[in-house]
Amino acid sequence: MGQFFYNLSPDTFTPANLQLEPVGYLLAPNNATPQLTGLARRVRAAGLGLLADNGNFTVIGQVRAALSEAAAALHAQVDAVEDRLGRSVRPGELPDRLQADYFELSVRARELARQLAGDGEASLAGQLALDPTYLIGVEDITAACWLALDLERSHTGRRRRDWRRMNTAVARRAAERIDRLPERLRERYYPVACAESYNTAWDAGQVFADHGLTPIAMGFGAFMADANYTDHVFIGRRRIDFPGRLPNRYTRTVLVARGFWDGYRSAAGTTPQGFHFLGLGAPIMLPLVALAADNDTALSFDATSPIKDALRDGVLYVTKPAYLKIRIRKSAGWLASDLRRTWDCPCPFCTAFAEQFPFDYPVGHAWRTAHPDQDPTAADLRPGGALYDAYPLFSEPPSGPRRDAVDHARIGHNHWALETILTAIRESRGHDTLRAHVQAVVAAYTPTTSPPFAEAVTNGLRFATADIESSP
Ligand SMILES: [Zn+2]
Repeated sequence: MGQFFYNLSPDTFTPANLQLEPVGYLLAPNNATPQLTGLARRVRAAGLGLLADNGNFTVIGQVRAALSEAAAALHAQVDAVEDRLGRSVRPGELPDRLQADYFELSVRARELARQLAGDGEASLAGQLALDPTYLIGVEDITAACWLALDLERSHTGRRRRDWRRMNTAVARRAAERIDRLPERLRERYYPVACAESYNTAWDAGQVFADHGLTPIAMGFGAFMADANYTDHVFIGRRRIDFPGRLPNRYTRTVLVARGFWDGYRSAAGTTPQGFHFLGLGAPIMLPLVALAADNDTALSFDATSPIKDALRDGVLYVTKPAYLKIRIRKSAGWLASDLRRTWDCPCPFCTAFAEQFPFDYPVGHAWRTAHPDQDPTAADLRPGGALYDAYPLFSEPPSGPRRDAVDHARIGHNHWALETILTAIRESRGHDTLRAHVQAVVAAYTPTTSPPFAEAVTNGLRFATADIESSP
């Protein structure tokens, strides 16, 4: 279990990337330029998987852009209430007027989402035209838009049943759709569930199981993009309090995965055969959700983050000493601080790049001697900067062949790191082995990060493995 679909682009469909034997590529019809459509044909000709996305990610971004100002104005009022309370607001605690404004904004978001996304499968013809081997299916993007706008249930006063209704409608449409698909796609059609917590995910799992659906997808990009903090979560009616406010992203991501599997199992008596995590590519999260899921489910992931992170002034993923995203500038400073340090990544991308553009460690060390207390700046890594030729992999050429080489190497490297992480998951067969593996991953990770993030990830591990009593 555990496969990563690469976002299709000229940066990811390269001979070097193909040597990693990717399971396949993802492309949405609304992004399919003639160039990408041509690449998609080559993906198929190479016998690789092609996952046709439904393109809703773009639409969610449009809804968010249209309403983000209104949402931010409301959020400032929540901040004021939370500052007064000294803790996160709980359901029913916002002033009535503010909750009513929040509810109204959630209605506007839902209406705009329906207006822009249509019936949730508006791009189906375009998807099929790509001749895919897998399809991301029908979706109601309302819940994803709410998340993108921070319209939490504790703010809008919305009930759990709103998500159940949306999931029921989607599951019903998906069940009807499957019968009308080309036969080869019927077991490769991933309708998209939605959730914002353990409880709503539990309901989603139950609803999708009741409709006999598997495989299934769910959007996780919005969970990971969430910059908010909370000091509690609900599992069933039980409120679990944290020692302080912790970043939502880690705990919610794990709880939603856990809730979905628990709900699905309760209804089907078994686990879904396949599950795709849309927009999840954070190194530390892959093992955690794999543990929250189930060894018997074929898990897959996609994300643009390993590409976006690799670009200018970005971050590189490492697996040693822990599963980390390390800012490139910081890596330059780290290397410069000790002449014995080298960038010894064994991946084919770093290796090939360094052959063409070797590191010149003594130059970096000399820079450090001259700047003992200073981190490298962006200018240091640009042409003419002191570290531009010391660390070509970390350098930022404005354009030209060296820019292309830098981008290709870093993008390839980040995907290689994810492949390494997924291989380790696949090799940890059986729940106990996987649990021991993920415990070791978290133990290595927590000392490297700030206390709230360490605590959030530790909670994630706890939620992935806790005994949660039957139906919440
Ligand atoms: Zn590398």
